[in-house]
Amino acid sequence: MNRLTPEAIAEGLESGRFRYMRKRCKRGHEWAGTGKSVSRTSTKKCLFCGLENARAQYENTDRNTEEYREVRRIRNQRYRDRLKTEGGDRLEDHRRKHVERNRRWRTESEESFRATLRRYRTSEKGKLLNKANHNRRRAAKENSHSARYSRKDLRSRLSEFDNKCVYCAKVVTTENTHSWDHFIPLSRGGCDTLGNLVLACRFCNASKKDRDPETWYFTQPFASDRRWKTLLKRLGIKEPGQLPLL
Ligand SMILES: [Zn+2]
Ligand SMILES: [Zn+2]
Repeated sequence: MNRLTPEAIAEGLESGRFRYMRKRCKRGHEWAGTGKSVSRTSTKKCLFCGLENARAQYENTDRNTEEYREVRRIRNQRYRDRLKTEGGDRLEDHRRKHVERNRRWRTESEESFRATLRRYRTSEKGKLLNKANHNRRRAAKENSHSARYSRKDLRSRLSEFDNKCVYCAKVVTTENTHSWDHFIPLSRGGCDTLGNLVLACRFCNASKKDRDPETWYFTQPFASDRRWKTLLKRLGIKEPGQLPLL
């Protein structure tokens, strides 16, 4: 598209594409101290009025409509077609330049990109997010009921348990040994919901696996009736066999 630069206008005046108007335009646009307005020879309309009108139309059009998207689609297609016939080489050059630049960017920044990702994954934030995502995928696999919970939910759940394993009461922290345990295992119909997630040490989690929580708990050396009851109460389970729902 030809921009209305001073050079373009001067050139247009010379070639006859534009010409001076006899009178100033209605809005009084004046060209470069000549005291005159310049019009398009073809339309006899002032260049700058045209520009203003186009701008106003652009601003007043709601472009977020289905109709407008269609207009844009056709216009873009027409542009691409034109480039193909008229500027085939230019388009190809352009494309090649982009591909080249992307490739360079990827190789140059790969190491720093990986490092950033690694830092995030090992941060507390990243770990909790990972856990939430991992659980959601697992629940989907087991066809368990799953309710979305966020990294923030997990964090507040973490503090609810005083950073202690609910089974053996060993202190666990995010940095080392904490893990999330589905109290009723997903494979036994447990839900992937916050209410079914408890904080456990890695040892207990690995040892409990998919076993029935109660059976497993009472074969452990640290088993205590009192703590078991407290745990059930905390999970809102009144009768044995009731799945914690939340
Ligand atoms: Zn004008
Ligand atoms: Zn434990």
